[in-house]
Amino acid sequence: MFKKNNIEVYPVMVPTSNKLESINFFLVKHENSLLLIDAGLNNDECWNALQMTLKDHDYTLTDITAILLTHNHIDHIGLVNTIVSTHSIPVYAHPYAKLILNRDPHYMKLRVEFFRKLYLEMGCGKFGETQATDLRNPITIGENKKIHCEIQEITTNQLFGFEVLKIPGHAPDQVAFYNRECNWLFAGDLLIKHLPSNAMVEPNIDGTRTKSLAQQKQSLEKCLSLNADLVFSGHASIIEKPTNLIKERIKEIDEKASKYIPFIQSGISTASGIAKLLYKDKYEKKFFNTMSKIIGYLDYLEIQGKITKEIKKGIWHYHC
Ligand SMILES: [Zn+2]
Repeated sequence: MFKKNNIEVYPVMVPTSNKLESINFFLVKHENSLLLIDAGLNNDECWNALQMTLKDHDYTLTDITAILLTHNHIDHIGLVNTIVSTHSIPVYAHPYAKLILNRDPHYMKLRVEFFRKLYLEMGCGKFGETQATDLRNPITIGENKKIHCEIQEITTNQLFGFEVLKIPGHAPDQVAFYNRECNWLFAGDLLIKHLPSNAMVEPNIDGTRTKSLAQQKQSLEKCLSLNADLVFSGHASIIEKPTNLIKERIKEIDEKASKYIPFIQSGISTASGIAKLLYKDKYEKKFFNTMSKIIGYLDYLEIQGKITKEIKKGIWHYHC
């Protein structure tokens, strides 16, 4: 338990067998509110861990007054439907998350078309096209991942004593909740202690492509400027004095970006060409993540003026 000024935080940390180490979400007591920041995965482990944490601190499920979501990914929203069906409380998220969480039909169509076109333009051919309709990515199209209640759009900079900071990159709708008095930051998946967070390429609301890695870097810089004492992460341990780690993550982005230059200099000009050479069988097995990573870096290098691109027969070719 973390206690400072008028805030108490009870972390719910559920171990995982994958490299993320744990799925974390947080009960936060602030004045008359008992907030739940994120809501884990929709499974028994997360549900039991939440119940146990509530019980340990003499609360029950119905004491929770609101849910705040850092972003739309399924390991952050899993218990929302169950909690809200027990007692109706407001669920807050970035306005863009609402479209995704409620599986807005227009948005879902736009999303599939976005990826179909993107993968064709990146030289992924037929394989890319089939992947676009069967997206193995953080937003599973299935109805069982849909949030059934109405999402309250976060449109102000303040919510329950927290400043709301937009920190896109890992997800276009990612927000952080910052309590200035405690100097504590709830940052979703922006910063994970032992591994760099993925910056996912996604469509913006208008269907254009997010420059996810460039956004990720800006979001890290925004959080660096806070000089926070604690970062409550969505995975693995809670991070004390995160300044050096944030600096390291920012540096890694430039180091990794520079590794793509020799491939482009050697004449491999398409994103799919780089993916096949650099990631071998991961290209097909982890298609969404691999392409997301490469496109993110190519966009980043282009913004920096280190590479240019031209379209030939519907496919983007990159040059130094
Ligand atoms: Zn995530």
